[in-house]
Amino acid sequence: MPKLPFEDWIKPLTKDTIATLPSFLRNSAKQLYIDGREQPCAEGGTLETYNPATGQVLATLARGTSEDIDRAVAVARAAFNGPWSEYTPAERQGVLLSIADAIEANFEEFAQVESLDVGVPLHRVLGMKGAITNIIRFFASQALQCRGETFDSPYKGDFTSMILKAPVGVVGGIIPWNAPLISIWWILGGVLATGCTTVIKPAEDASLSALLMARVMSEAGLPDGVVNIVTGAGSVAGSALAHHPDVDRIAFTGSTATGREIIKASAVNMKRVQLELGGKSPDIIFDDADLERAVPGAAMGVYSNSGQICFAGTRVFVQRSIQDEFVEKLSAFSKTVKVGAPTAQDTMLGPLVSQAQLDRVMGYIQIGQDEGAKLVSGGNRLGGDLASGYYVEPTVFSGVSNDMRIAREEIFGPVISVIPFDTAEEALALANDTEYGLGGAVWTQNLGRAMKMVHGIKAGQVWVNCYGLIDPMVGFGGVKSSGYGWKGGTRHVDGYLYEKAVTLKAS
Ligand code: NAD
Repeated sequence: MPKLPFEDWIKPLTKDTIATLPSFLRNSAKQLYIDGREQPCAEGGTLETYNPATGQVLATLARGTSEDIDRAVAVARAAFNGPWSEYTPAERQGVLLSIADAIEANFEEFAQVESLDVGVPLHRVLGMKGAITNIIRFFASQALQCRGETFDSPYKGDFTSMILKAPVGVVGGIIPWNAPLISIWWILGGVLATGCTTVIKPAEDASLSALLMARVMSEAGLPDGVVNIVTGAGSVAGSALAHHPDVDRIAFTGSTATGREIIKASAVNMKRVQLELGGKSPDIIFDDADLERAVPGAAMGVYSNSGQICFAGTRVFVQRSIQDEFVEKLSAFSKTVKVGAPTAQDTMLGPLVSQAQLDRVMGYIQIGQDEGAKLVSGGNRLGGDLASGYYVEPTVFSGVSNDMRIAREEIFGPVISVIPFDTAEEALALANDTEYGLGGAVWTQNLGRAMKMVHGIKAGQVWVNCYGLIDPMVGFGGVKSSGYGWKGGTRHVDGYLYEKAVTLKAS
């Protein structure tokens, strides 16, 4: 743990305590990052970002508009056609490896900035260093894997048939606020491995680590204009990026409603689109599950990151014969989950990201009670020393039915709905009775049952006797209203390349 007076950060900032902030944050006014340097936005508007632990303004962001998006896209296009296009795969790999080293060397500052901006416990972000740098190094390996195919020619004579692959061009990246430090790499990795360039629009509530990232990448040797960051409102800067006729591809992570807008916007120039959207994932607990593991596993499959994870297993289906025992144990476990200041070593859950998210989660807790679900633990906003932050207790509802709003709509907070089932067939039918298809899990010691669920759950990823582990070598994706397009794995870079069939007569 770095030796800094963290306790200052969970109190309202004063002239003195500002001096203890990471150096990147001491000047609280941030600009756009375009063409390798900070630049003001065209209209001079601003946007405030808050420290979720205190509810106090943390920094002022530039409110980018369509004019700024136009400028950033033009810069990204020039960089795509410029010296960056001459980089060999090994040189792109070298850039990615230098960036991974630079992020590793500066990771404490990244962790501090992310923790202050998003509210995630500092020790948790510090613990993600290996995961993030492994993802970047994985993409470094993929720079050498951009390959096409050759075929035996169907024609007589000196013909060769082949498929070449080429970078798609300028990629618009739009990310949410829940884990920007990692989610930005699911876009930058593909961009840099393939020789594309990008304009990233981070979320209004959590743009700081993206701005710091751009600066560190420049220092690590990334050519100017390859990665550009435009902060601002989704409805203005994000929408302008999604509609831009000179953007070739959009990689979007966010809500399903915004995903639908992105698809419509893509029609302007037939942009390629990759969407990672919302979820309401099922977590199925059979009566032979090892509850010592299944209870904390299912609980943390929702509570991690204070429930602000797209694939959270928020619908916990429990076989009726063990329902009472499970709910009792889940409730007892939930009371041991320490909610507290992001700076404290024993904090498991920090605050929610914003006042709006707090209102949304508290609203759903009320809806659950109004719908007749039984609130068995949690349900309250925290008071005392934490009253000015956006803290909510881990919350368990039992007696939920799959048609209640708390079982159908994404809450994006630490709220579990326990729903009983009798047979495997019923569990599957309930699990799939949702518009989403992001994740799912099963807990059982019976391999046959496990595989029946693995095959039957309609989702982009399924876990057995564990929850939420993502292997960058394998990747992940979604189906139904959770989106499409794979992130991670060896297929990831294909999304950043287009195919060109070539027939060549050598003489
Ligand atoms: P959101 O859709 O409101 O915002 C996401 C991003 O889109 C932000 O940068 C926002 O500024 C931008 N945006 C908003 N309106 C836009 C528009 N009209 N055009 C272009 N861009 C626009 O989502 P959110 O509330 O910030 O994030 C939470 C959502 O993200 C949840 O639904 C969650 O499940 C989802 N999410 C999904 C994944 C995944 O991998 N599937 C990961 C994290 C979060």
